Amino acid sequence: MTDLLLKNGRIIDPVNHRDETGDILIRDGRIAGTGKNLKPDGVETEIDVTGKWIVPGLVDMHVHLREPGREDKETIQTGCQAAVAGGFTAVACMPNTVPVNDNQSITRFILDKALDAPARVYPIAAITRGLDGSQLTDMAELHDAGVVAFSDDGRCVTNADLLRRAMDYTKLFDGLIIEHCEDPVLSNGGVMREGFVCTTLGLSPIPSLAEELMVARDIRIAEYTGGRLHIAHVSSRESVRLIAEARERGVRVSAEVTPHHLFLTDEEVRSFDTNTKMNPPLGTEQDRKALEDALIAGVIDCIATDHAPHTEQEKMVEYDYAPNGVIGLETALPLVLTQLVHSRRMSPSRMVEVMSVNPCRILGMEGGTLSDHAVADITVIDPERLWLVEPSRFYSKSRNTPFGGMSLRGAAAMTIVSGRIVYQADEE
Ligand SMILES: [Zn+2]
Repeated sequence: MTDLLLKNGRIIDPVNHRDETGDILIRDGRIAGTGKNLKPDGVETEIDVTGKWIVPGLVDMHVHLREPGREDKETIQTGCQAAVAGGFTAVACMPNTVPVNDNQSITRFILDKALDAPARVYPIAAITRGLDGSQLTDMAELHDAGVVAFSDDGRCVTNADLLRRAMDYTKLFDGLIIEHCEDPVLSNGGVMREGFVCTTLGLSPIPSLAEELMVARDIRIAEYTGGRLHIAHVSSRESVRLIAEARERGVRVSAEVTPHHLFLTDEEVRSFDTNTKMNPPLGTEQDRKALEDALIAGVIDCIATDHAPHTEQEKMVEYDYAPNGVIGLETALPLVLTQLVHSRRMSPSRMVEVMSVNPCRILGMEGGTLSDHAVADITVIDPERLWLVEPSRFYSKSRNTPFGGMSLRGAAAMTIVSGRIVYQADEE
């Protein structure tokens, strides 16, 4: 493996309380030193990154890579190309593939395919077989096969007894349960958030209560069992309040928010663009503001994209019939830089926490730091690069983004996985 020296970057490493200009040496896939004016022997590649930020590799703990089964939407390879182009060195992929990742052979298939992909891939296994909500998967076996968490994402585990048993069981190896919190009786086939805009448009409503009731129930089950719970894509102000309260009581609960819930509201649905249709649906401005505040304050731990590729054909239908979800790997970092960091609402260091340090901690994986000997997963960010969102240029196989045409400031300049440069932006 070749040595690499990055020179004169702004090194942002919150775990070591570091934010200063310097060099970083990478040797044999690991970080071999950090400091000013490093002059090591025998370095093969030296890159000057003046004006750029050097941060621990970004991690997206909630993506859908669609392989196996829906390779027309995305593959492990194309999803990982989109990831590294967006500055992500690792992704955790949800199990709702075809077939579902509910047994060791599918987990192994994914891990095997990922060996050739530019980013690290951490599979998440299903909680119930076939995501049917009735029978638990063999969780210990899946844990041994290398999954990092369990989720029936796309659906909620509505059977409280089953969720209780899943949490009890995963305690044996301190496993993590990721819940998609939605009471399907309350959401009842709705297509957007209940409220003023929904009434105006005459679309069928999903009350925020559908999420909040399950957040409350799941927190209570986590508290009762002592299990570890992570709440996916939080979308409502009341959910934020419930999570904040639970954490004060010491419940082992963490949470994520998506860029679309952070930066868009139900007002966007007025366009009837099916790229505003997702589950949970976009909330009100009050919800959006509460999510942003909670992320900055530390109540919400991380940003996860819920990258959900769909073909153009599938999305080019009437609003009611369009599938839920949008892609996010290539737009997340530029959006966060533009909307939160450059606007000075969030510090660069907090951004690194919510996009790298915390997802690594929650999933119990390597990374999230630039300490000596740490794995050399690194994102170099050009904070000033002007970037127009052009879906036709995405590395992802799919184009379903609500952010097309936006002008953003800041993007990944270089992505390094295990000491190897896996993505480099074109110089303008
Ligand atoms: Zn979900």
